Amino acid sequence: MEIKINEKRLLDTFLTLVRIDSESLHEKDIQCYVAAEMKKRGCQVVVDKIGKKIGSTAQGNIIATLKGTRPGKPFFLSAHLDTVPPGKGIKPIVKKDRVTSDGTTILAGDDKTGVALMLEIAQVLKEQKVAHPTIEFIFTLNEEHGMYGSKNLDYSKIKAKDGLIMDHEELSDLLVRGPEVVDFIVEITGVTAHAGVAPEKGISALEVAAKALSMMKLGRIDKETVCNFGVVSGGQVTNAVMPKLSLLGEARSLSHVKLQKQVKHMKDCFAKAAKQFVKKVDGKTIRPVIDIKTPLRYGALNVPVTAPTVKLALAAAKKYGIKMKPVSSGGGCDANVLCQHGLVAPNLGLGVRNCHTPREYVDLAEYYTASKIVLDILLNYK
Ligand SMILES: [Zn+2]
Repeated sequence: MEIKINEKRLLDTFLTLVRIDSESLHEKDIQCYVAAEMKKRGCQVVVDKIGKKIGSTAQGNIIATLKGTRPGKPFFLSAHLDTVPPGKGIKPIVKKDRVTSDGTTILAGDDKTGVALMLEIAQVLKEQKVAHPTIEFIFTLNEEHGMYGSKNLDYSKIKAKDGLIMDHEELSDLLVRGPEVVDFIVEITGVTAHAGVAPEKGISALEVAAKALSMMKLGRIDKETVCNFGVVSGGQVTNAVMPKLSLLGEARSLSHVKLQKQVKHMKDCFAKAAKQFVKKVDGKTIRPVIDIKTPLRYGALNVPVTAPTVKLALAAAKKYGIKMKPVSSGGGCDANVLCQHGLVAPNLGLGVRNCHTPREYVDLAEYYTASKIVLDILLNYK
């Protein structure tokens, strides 16, 4: 007997999930719903307790394990429970070939297509007698706000090494590489002075910043590396030399070596600029002080194209007439974090488009094909 996804039920589950508000850090309702549904499907459900720590209304991430009906290694599937705003009171509209929102909110196809599919797969495996490996279903909190759910997941609870993340757009693009990202938190302290009476006695934090940035390579650095400053704040009045300025930026690269090189270059530019503003005022040397913090936001996603899930995904896609190819992205997701913890999982698209906008929609034909591919991958995992 061929094992089949129930497309109508999958769509109904998706619509139900979409109607449960779950903007980042407000995932309590959806977490309770999904945990209960996975229990009904015969899974052993563990909800960790990281909610409080990360400021969520939910108790925590869900790990639901469906025991295998054949021996072999376990496999995992993962999707996130939260959405970006505006995601309250979503009214999904089912059209002939797609599902949209009413245009006032996002749809939450990102990532409720993944969540719904995980519920459907657990249901299918429960009701249709088929040999399958043990499956660990991982539902994370707060992905959109910096992957704090997956960053705080207890990885000792996950037995699988190989798996699949379902949090991408086009089915034909299998995401296998994503950048490592370093944040730049810069605080420049100058020396204030009356701008009308004695500007020469001050050092403008703004001028120091401008000098540093004018020397800096920004934007597209090379094919794998980009860099940007997106937030600047400082100063209160026009008649004082600006005493303090802060800059927030980031550097990203698919290559760790290139990223380190770019970070060093940026730090060097600030140091060089600071030196140019050292001067003597009333017999005393004054200088700007620059404090730079460069914490790692997340590590790179790097799944070898020889990884079992990649091979299985490409083979399954071929079966269903999809020309799938491994691709890299400039963004980050749970896959980056899981990769840092030794899990090997590409990120598969389930047919969602225009994510994070009110124009978001799910292409139903693509979603159903993706669902078959996901089922095919895990049934063939050995
Ligand atoms: Zn997502």
